[in-house]
Parts: sequence; structure tokens; C-alpha cells
Amino acid sequence: MNYQNNIEFAQQLDQQDKLANFREKFLIPKHHQQDAIYLCGNSLGLQPKATYQYIQEQLAVWQNLAVEGWFQGSDPWLNYHQQLKKPLADMIGARPAEVTVMNSLTVNLHLLLVSFYQPTTKRFKILMEGGAFPSDQYAVESQVKFHGYAPQDAIIEVFPREGEETLRTEDILTAIQDNADELALVLFSGINYYTGQFFDLSSIAKAAHQAGAYVGFDLAHAAGNVPLALHDWEVDFACWCSYKYMNSGPGGISGIFVHEKHFTNSSLNRLAGWWGYRNDTRFKMAAGFEPETGAEGWQVSTSPILLMAAHKVALDIFNEAGSILPLRQKSIQLTGYLKFLIDEINQKAGNELFKVITPENEQERGCQLSIICKQKGKEIFDYLYSQGIIGDWREPDVIRLSPVPLYNSFTDVFRAGQHLAKAVDHF
Ligand SMILES: *Cc1c(COP(=O)(O)O)cnc(C)c1O
Repeated sequence: MNYQNNIEFAQQLDQQDKLANFREKFLIPKHHQQDAIYLCGNSLGLQPKATYQYIQEQLAVWQNLAVEGWFQGSDPWLNYHQQLKKPLADMIGARPAEVTVMNSLTVNLHLLLVSFYQPTTKRFKILMEGGAFPSDQYAVESQVKFHGYAPQDAIIEVFPREGEETLRTEDILTAIQDNADELALVLFSGINYYTGQFFDLSSIAKAAHQAGAYVGFDLAHAAGNVPLALHDWEVDFACWCSYKYMNSGPGGISGIFVHEKHFTNSSLNRLAGWWGYRNDTRFKMAAGFEPETGAEGWQVSTSPILLMAAHKVALDIFNEAGSILPLRQKSIQLTGYLKFLIDEINQKAGNELFKVITPENEQERGCQLSIICKQKGKEIFDYLYSQGIIGDWREPDVIRLSPVPLYNSFTDVFRAGQHLAKAVDHF
């Protein structure tokens, strides 16, 4: 697209935008009585207006039916999670039986590692991206130690080449091949939280399997952001949170994916709980764990209904938008526009004041741009915040800005660009 650096152009794109009305479904934080420009959906998605109502409805069920809420009412709690599976499966490219919602993200990563990281003396290594989200690093480190290995022996991290900010797919694949004999698992994020790089998950999955390893993805920054095809890519497992691009509330319920081919794989360990027991006989309360078929067999504890209600609102909104595809189309344009405006600032300054480390290729990124500020980064970030532009700051010098197609407009992006340009003059 040929972008232009003026408000009329941004407004024109907003007028043509078929998804523009979805913004009305969200509560936008205020800055001096005006809508703030919220570009932080990578960290915490905005609250849908209907969240309050959906949660109130469940509070009313609790009030009126109390324990009978598990079995009665329009959405009995016992099966409440069932209705979330289809929309989630559509979003990540899975079959409904392959997904469920439970716990929170790092907990689910641990539970899935119990199943898919079963090291042997020959195959005990986990290959992951260097600079993964800290919680994932800690989870892997502690899992490896739990099995009696030293992290420095069992964890292989793939880093970008000297002088580069993001990983080349060829380097990831080579690292997998080079360690093929010793790999138990390849574990990557879908989109790296720091750089915003969207990895070639299909190729990584293929290479991991060729090496004889399992492959799993942490999709915290990818779910609800980019199209995925976990089933077709034959990914073994995945997990994600719902509070970033899925707008389901702080600490919202997490989702998991387990590929159909593992439904009858009895070699997988699990940490079991009654909520993963066969649905038809769970309440016989018999001794001896028998898992429900599918991802539900990994559930452990009683459904947190209030969290699920918040998740349902958000999934209903995605459903109304059609699918992830039209959102992705708008997202590519929004983020492309932000990139264009940043390039303009650099050109005008005759100097790369802002270095975007997120890949240039739109297929290798999602909503987010990660921007290194060559000077006065924290001051610029604070200035943006004082002007009602909400992004987030990562030490030592990175601002992350993520226009989200469900609630951000082209005008938002234009204004953010304007303030970024003003910030340069300011300091
Ligand atoms: C946001 C994020 C987390 C957070 O995990 P919680 O258990 O929800 O706190 C973990 N991993 C990645 C990759 C993330 O982006």
C-alpha cells in the first residue's frame, strides 16, 4: 500500500475499514477526557464492554442456583468450557477436541512439558530461541533440573547472528539438524515477545520431527494476532494466554492444544486431576485415573467460570469479526502504516533515530513493532505516555507499539507517529 503521512489519509482508511465498528465494543482508557491511543494489546488487551454483563450473568447464576449452577441454567458450568473450544480451535487452526482452556500459561507449559519432555540418556536436550520470555526460560530450566540434568547441558538456545536482531529460519533449522540425535524437544514461541518476530512455525515443526523430537509452541503473542494452522503443521502441543491479543482480562484463563495423534499415546506422562477424567464417569469418583479423550484429558482442576465468562465475550467478538483472516489483513496495514511513519521520521532526520528490530517482511511479524531508540529512549517513552500514547518499555532502549485491528484505528497510528516525531524535536 502507498501510505501518506497526513490525517486525511488515515481518516480515509478508517472510513473504508469494515472492522472499524469493532472499536465500539471496547472500553478505551481516557487521557484528558479523550480516548487514549492504546498500543499495548501485546501486554494486556482492552476490556470488551460486554465483559461486565457476562460476568454479572454468572454471578447471578451463583446467587440464584448456587451449586445447581453446575447442572442448571442456560449454560451449565459443567460444560461451560465446551462452547469455547470451537472458536478457539478456529483461531489457532485446530480441531475442537485438540483444544481446551484451563489454568494459566506458565502452569500449562509445565503440565505439557511433563507430557512432551521425557528425556532419555540419548535424547535429553531442549532447543529453544535465545531470549525467550523469562517465564518460559525458568519453566524449561526447572523442568530440566527436575529430570536431573544441568541446564547448560540440556538447553540449547539459538541466537541471532552477530550484528543481527532476529533469527534466520535457516539458522534455526540448521541448529535442529546439528543436534538431531540428542533432541527431545524443540520449544519456540510463536512470536518473540521482545523483537516481535513471527517464526516460521511450519518449517520448525517439520525439522523437529525429522530430527525425531517433539515440537511445542508458546503462542502467547501469536494467538489472536496471526493465523495459525497447528493441526496441519502437526505441532505436538501448544499453549497460550488469553489476556494479550485475546482481551480476556488480566491473568485470564489459558488455552492448550494437543495434537489428535497423541490422544491415544499412552507413553505420555501427565499430572492428572479429576477435571481431566472421562466425562461420562467422572462423578463415580472411582480410583484409577482414566483421561477424557482429547485435550480435555489434560485438565486438572474445576473450571474457573468467571474467567471463562470473560474469555467467552472476547471469543464471541472474534467470531463476529468473521475469522482471524480479515483481522490479519487490517493488522498488516495498521502495522505497515506505523512502520511507514517511523521511516519518515528517520528520513526527515537524516538519521536512524528509531531502529525497528521487528522483521521488515510483514509475514514475519504480527501487530507489534519493537523500536530501539538510539537516544533518550526512556524520555521519549515517558513523553509519549504524557501525551496519551500507551505502549510499553523494555530495558535498555526498546519501545513496543502494537496496533490491534479490533480496537485501533489508522488515525490512532497516525497520531502515534505524530507524537513520536514531536518527541524527537522535544529532546
Ligand atoms: C506473556 C507471556 C507469558 C506469561 O505467562 P503467565 O503464566 O501468564 O504469567 C509466558 N510466556 C510468554 C512467551 C509470554 O509472552
